[in-house]
Amino acid sequence: MADKDSVEKYLENNPQFAKEYFDKKLRAEALSAAFSAPVDVKDTASFKDVNSVQEAAIIFELVQEMQKPDCMEKTIHKVLQRVASIIQADRVSYYINRSRNGIPELATCLFDVTPTSKYEANLVDPQTEIVFPIDMGIVGFTATSKKPQNVPDVTQNKKFCDFVDKQTGYKTKCLLTFPMIAEKECIGVVMALNKIGQDHFTAEDETLFHKYMTFAQVVALQYFTAYMFNVESRRSQVLLWSASKVFEELTDIERQFHKALYTVRIYLQCERYSVGLLDMTKEKEFYDEWPVKLGDVEPYKGPKTPDGREVIFYKIIDYLLEGKEEIKVIPGPPADHWALVSGLPTYVAENGFICNMMNVAADDFFTFQKEAVDDTGFVIKNVLSLPIVNKKEEIVGVATFYNRKDGKPFDEHDEQITEAMTQFLGWSVLVCDTYDRLNRMEWRKDIAQEMLMYQTRCTKSELQSILNTNEKFDAEPEDCDQKEMYKLLKATCPVADNVNGESLYLFSFSDFPVTEHGLIKAGIRMFFELGVVEKFKVPAETLTRWMYTVRKGYRDITYHNWRHGFNVGHTMFCLLQTGRLRKYYSDLDAFAMVAAAFCHDIDHRGTNNLYQTKQVKDVSSCVCFRGASAHPLAKLHGSSIMERHHLEYSKTLMAEETLNIFCNLQKRQFETVQHLFDVCIIATDLALYFKKRTMFQNIVNATEPMPEEKEAIAYISNNPVRKEIIMAMMMTGCDLSAITKPWEVQSKVALMVAAEFWEQGDLERSVLDQQPIPMMDRNCAEQLPKMQCGFIDFVCSFVYKEFSRFHKEITPMFDGLNYNRSQWNAQAEVYNAKMKAIEDEKKKLEEEEAKKAGGGEAGKSKTCTIC
Ligand SMILES: [Zn+2]
Repeated sequence: MADKDSVEKYLENNPQFAKEYFDKKLRAEALSAAFSAPVDVKDTASFKDVNSVQEAAIIFELVQEMQKPDCMEKTIHKVLQRVASIIQADRVSYYINRSRNGIPELATCLFDVTPTSKYEANLVDPQTEIVFPIDMGIVGFTATSKKPQNVPDVTQNKKFCDFVDKQTGYKTKCLLTFPMIAEKECIGVVMALNKIGQDHFTAEDETLFHKYMTFAQVVALQYFTAYMFNVESRRSQVLLWSASKVFEELTDIERQFHKALYTVRIYLQCERYSVGLLDMTKEKEFYDEWPVKLGDVEPYKGPKTPDGREVIFYKIIDYLLEGKEEIKVIPGPPADHWALVSGLPTYVAENGFICNMMNVAADDFFTFQKEAVDDTGFVIKNVLSLPIVNKKEEIVGVATFYNRKDGKPFDEHDEQITEAMTQFLGWSVLVCDTYDRLNRMEWRKDIAQEMLMYQTRCTKSELQSILNTNEKFDAEPEDCDQKEMYKLLKATCPVADNVNGESLYLFSFSDFPVTEHGLIKAGIRMFFELGVVEKFKVPAETLTRWMYTVRKGYRDITYHNWRHGFNVGHTMFCLLQTGRLRKYYSDLDAFAMVAAAFCHDIDHRGTNNLYQTKQVKDVSSCVCFRGASAHPLAKLHGSSIMERHHLEYSKTLMAEETLNIFCNLQKRQFETVQHLFDVCIIATDLALYFKKRTMFQNIVNATEPMPEEKEAIAYISNNPVRKEIIMAMMMTGCDLSAITKPWEVQSKVALMVAAEFWEQGDLERSVLDQQPIPMMDRNCAEQLPKMQCGFIDFVCSFVYKEFSRFHKEITPMFDGLNYNRSQWNAQAEVYNAKMKAIEDEKKKLEEEEAKKAGGGEAGKSKTCTIC
């Protein structure tokens, strides 16, 4: 070991090392002081036998050890080894204090630890534990008295019991004990046995022992706290899940937050606190970008988080701790909500600072609501606000604490406590992120499996049923010449103006005379008509296989089946060709738009988005709050649930080489196609229709007075946003096109749509135990004509009216719509007349009844006649 002089010399010659060393040492000491209040680290007298350099090194090592998220036993083991070496104990053990069936007991946890013994050998297996009651021996006395003991000679101590010695054959002579205390309860006892080379432990040994025990204590406490947190959160989980409606409104991450906050609420010592959750999306949905890109809406100039997100509090969870505990969830809080109006949460989200403010009413930078915030009479006095940061250093939310319970301002300790807590919250978000991701993968797997189970891609023989190379060339498609196969395919597919007597170039095309297999061929024909097959080198067998697989991707349900998918693809074709909208788009755009239209409802389950969020996946496992039991699809995609699924499904097909009709595109072109699929398929969510209405109308208004066609083409095709808006509206026009078809078609299709709605309504009634809305209630079937009129007036009319204004070639759709409107209206009037007749009859009967009973005083006072 180095002598004093050489150490000094070394330190002088190596100032950098000296600095680093003392920094570490100071940090270790500060930590040790922080963790063990009663121990005076300045009292160097008690260290005199231990080289202080070594001492600090050990402490530092232990502190490092404590920071590892390792298991408690392992860390305590290390502490015990150090202490055994320092106080020269023959062996050291750790007993845990626990209670079973209400009876406290002590059990060996780490046994016979020496400076060199192996952890695995010292860790006691639950099967080989030595267990004894808490009122036995000196360890028991330490646990009950919660006081450390120094027994120089066990034979002279009445409390000593040789119960353990008898089992192990060891001979205890002298010992030191120390109780591990957590929240005033003894959770375990450390015992050091037999001083090596002496017959008892000295007072100095005792002091050192105690000092190191404080480390063991911190470790045990950490573990205990984590454990209790777990217990407590499980308890609150049970309590809340059964009692609170709050959970129905929270996502998994928020629920995690909530659990953590709920559990620690008693430590916070404040009257109220709120957590504002920040929108984590870095990029907006394409349709939300449109108004900004068009210049209709100012780009966002407001505050942003340090990582560049707009500061949007999408939800506030408000916790009232005063009096009756209460939790309020405020989704989409307005900017003038009392919790936000001061601007403080936004400031914190923007800067990531901790803000501790007293007497906020007097503050003029932040203007807090001065009067009571709600009917509880709660008035804001002092505020402590701090960011919740996840491990990726992103601010995920802002926690704000109001009014310390004792009325005093929040102090540095509150700051520390709350900071620790928000760190913990941030951490819990991360855990939750991982959890969410795992689940996402899990759900994805579920869906993928479902997809696989329900359908397999086009088989060889199915391919041959259209592209019959075996028969014609006596060869497999991969051995055939593409040009020959194109010829063959074109010959097999019906000509465009005669598909079972119907023309693909007419908006009035009806699929009814065509078989489902025939529709696959008609679909292929349209790609040839568009001229994209040869241009983009789509292999004939890939095109056939893809079209066939898309057909198989549609389930055999009442309305959202392959026929609907085909019709939407067809109307897109018609809008581009017959409606002459193609002039705004490139060949690749047109190719992608028609393909996306075919795919837009693929794997539809016959139920709408709302149903997916409501659906109880497994009714028998009745942990019945909505979020947990919703269908996997609802969990995976937040909004436009079904549309995102159709999109994902279509992209899965694209990812498969043998199905990828876009396989010969360049990377950039392929990315364009992917984006167009996003736009087209998501656009079929009617919920988004209302967002794009005005934007579309503005384009129509702008182009209407343009005298030259060229001008309109330039106005649109040079602007990708306008192109997308029209494209999105075209998708709506296609999706609703059944309403414009000849009356014989529309009247039948409307019934199919209704039938599918009614089936969902039946499901809602039986599975979800909910009363369906009239549209989905088969008991309201007679109101169908009226509802169709409403649907035409509120949704469809705009689409086709604006399209015919935009391009007169599309007028046949609007005419068809209007004719159907008149037909439905006539039916509605028949129904109304019938209802009126029933109503009149009822009234007449009532009047007659009343006459009979009242003897002339008809209808005047029915109640009177009874009494
Ligand atoms: Zn559809």
